Amino acid sequence: MLKVGITGGIGSGKSTICKVFKQLGIAVYDADARGKAVLEENEDVKEKVVEAFGIGAYNENGSVNRLFLAEQVFSKPDALEKLNGLVHPAVRVDFESWIDEQTGAYVIKEAAILIESGAYKEVDEIIVVNANEESRIRRVMNRDQVEESKVRERMNAQLSDAERASYASHIIDNNDDQLVIPQILRIHEDIISRSNS
Ligand code: ATP
Repeated sequence: MLKVGITGGIGSGKSTICKVFKQLGIAVYDADARGKAVLEENEDVKEKVVEAFGIGAYNENGSVNRLFLAEQVFSKPDALEKLNGLVHPAVRVDFESWIDEQTGAYVIKEAAILIESGAYKEVDEIIVVNANEESRIRRVMNRDQVEESKVRERMNAQLSDAERASYASHIIDNNDDQLVIPQILRIHEDIISRSNS
């Protein structure tokens, strides 16, 4: 089964676009949500995280101390890379076993850090969602009720659209002046036609 990754900067519209793919009958794996679950549930990962970041990484009830972990990795690329390096292999295993349960011509893996985590190497094609900075900031401020500076902070920790685009097999332009559904349908039909041949 063909594996298609979808990525894009914060607020670019990945999740919204994935809802349309789901309507088309395509199964979507949410790598960010599964990464959080792995961090919380996978005993092997938990052990390694405690080893690397200290016992404070988890609360007494076993849940992740997100504030603590965020502080450990904020503005520290090496620490962030280390954390991703602990979580990512477990997500990869989880993704592969999830695929075994899916049917359809292809599956989608949605990941904000598909490129940064190296997970792009494990998919056959990559869809990159682009939207201009101004729209992304406005959308995230509305969605999360946060200030512009918070959105910019998260944006600055990610790759630029241009860097991401260099990995793209397909680009979706999700700016306000573009119709997004025809772009999704074109990509869907293109992938289906190739997966049939
Ligand atoms: P994140 O990386 O933060 O998870 P995302 O890329 O998944 O973000 P979405 O959550 O899909 O982005 O979109 C961000 C917000 O922008 C949402 O509230 C969504 O409803 C809105 N949005 C997405 N696309 C459009 C669009 N074309 N027009 C108007 N609003 C949009």
